[in-house]
Amino acid sequence: MVDKILMVICDGLGDRPVEALGHKTPLQSAFRPHLNNFAMGGACGIMDLIAPGIRPGSDTAHLALFGFDPYKVYTGRGPFEAMGVGMEVRPGDVALRCNFASVDDKLSIVDRRAGRIKEGTAELAKALDGWEYEGVKVYFKEGTEHRGVLLLRAPGLSPAISDGDPHEEGRKVPLVEPRAPDAALTARVVNAFVSRSHAILKDHPVNRQRVAAGLRPANIILPRGAGIMPHLPSWKDRFGMKAAAIAGVALVKGICRVTGMEVLEVKGATGGLDTDMNAKVEAAMKALRDNDLVFVNIKAADLCGHDGDHKTKTAVAARIDKAMGLLWKDFPEDTYLALAADHSTPCCVKDHTGDPVPLAIFGRGVRTDDVKTYDEIACARGGLGRLRGTDLLQVMLDLTERTEKFGA
Ligand code: ZN
Ligand code: ZN
Repeated sequence: MVDKILMVICDGLGDRPVEALGHKTPLQSAFRPHLNNFAMGGACGIMDLIAPGIRPGSDTAHLALFGFDPYKVYTGRGPFEAMGVGMEVRPGDVALRCNFASVDDKLSIVDRRAGRIKEGTAELAKALDGWEYEGVKVYFKEGTEHRGVLLLRAPGLSPAISDGDPHEEGRKVPLVEPRAPDAALTARVVNAFVSRSHAILKDHPVNRQRVAAGLRPANIILPRGAGIMPHLPSWKDRFGMKAAAIAGVALVKGICRVTGMEVLEVKGATGGLDTDMNAKVEAAMKALRDNDLVFVNIKAADLCGHDGDHKTKTAVAARIDKAMGLLWKDFPEDTYLALAADHSTPCCVKDHTGDPVPLAIFGRGVRTDDVKTYDEIACARGGLGRLRGTDLLQVMLDLTERTEKFGA
């Protein structure tokens, strides 16, 4: 029997020292006996998900964790934005980030964010979703506030088109132009969609109510940042492995799905602060029985980082510890655990930074080092040194004897 791999990624867990915490990071401040056990019994290090000083998005970070070079497979944010709002994205789909915007009768842009619209976008999006033009299937879904995603599905689409958003108010809505001969169809469909969006949205009840209330109407869609979903070879094709994932947020679920993981639905796993971490860890332990690799993303710490809330982030780290106690208590003999984060989200920055994340690898026979606690500072002294995101999977494959010898 070949050993199994368990990856537990605590989204945005990495941080910087916080003055109010006595210059400790939230993770260092948290009561975390089980996380420390994994570090103490394991091999530790720090990891730059992309490269030192590069600020990863959750999407590019996860691509790296799954062994893909994000610089090769990430052509534009669109497809990953689509996954983020929970759309199904298939290889070859072209997707664009969009704004709900306000235009006047001459299609001059009055407001690129439609008065920062917050409500009613789901209804507006529904009126645009599910259309076909020149054989291309067209889907649209709202995101947060004034944002949305346009997704095109047909064989042979190219994302090489200009933006349909001049990024400036007072200008006319520009026609999208193809930047390569094979992008003409994509450009025609996007232009047709933009015209149609105005035709449908200008008299939509949601907008009539907005105008009556003295608010700007969301009467057009401005698309930009076209990208194509690359074909990512499956775990089965790459390594002959069966892989499953447990994640709360749509973006991470989407990336797991396009790499051929089975995404398991866990009751109470929300991707929010209220997520049931114990249920996630328990589900992962169960999934290890019939998978070669199980991936878990726990989102909560990232949310606290974006909010700049070090108190809650510390509490979240302690909750992660408690959940990981379940794994510690019953750690499966045949499993190697990689415990890490997908990036740092320091409370003082309120966004992702390039600070490396703490990494502990635990399992039978790993080279235990002198690190006694799981945190950003202690792990830097560990035996794994400083890895890159794409190295991690390779190291795990090697520990579980799945790698080919290079040379004789
Ligand atoms: Zn993340
Ligand atoms: Zn984040």
